Amino acid sequence: MDVLGLGADPVAADELVCSAKGCRAEARWGLLWNNPRLHTPERRKVWLACDDHREHLEQFLGARSFWKQTVPVGELEHV
Ligand SMILES: [Zn+2]
Repeated sequence: MDVLGLGADPVAADELVCSAKGCRAEARWGLLWNNPRLHTPERRKVWLACDDHREHLEQFLGARSFWKQTVPVGELEHV
């Protein structure tokens, strides 16, 4: 159930690790993004980020106009 209506793909509750390459830090943020060439407009893919990599990943997605929203990891739907 998507309580918050974020439309984000669920994340594995036991695998909340930063998505940055080579980083195994605990994720604190969920970056919601959409690639309009691959995804329907309502779809939200999720990258997880630690405090150190949040800005880097936001810039990466933002540069491609994919970034939509960043939320605390606790607000993501878990499976
Ligand atoms: Zn990280």
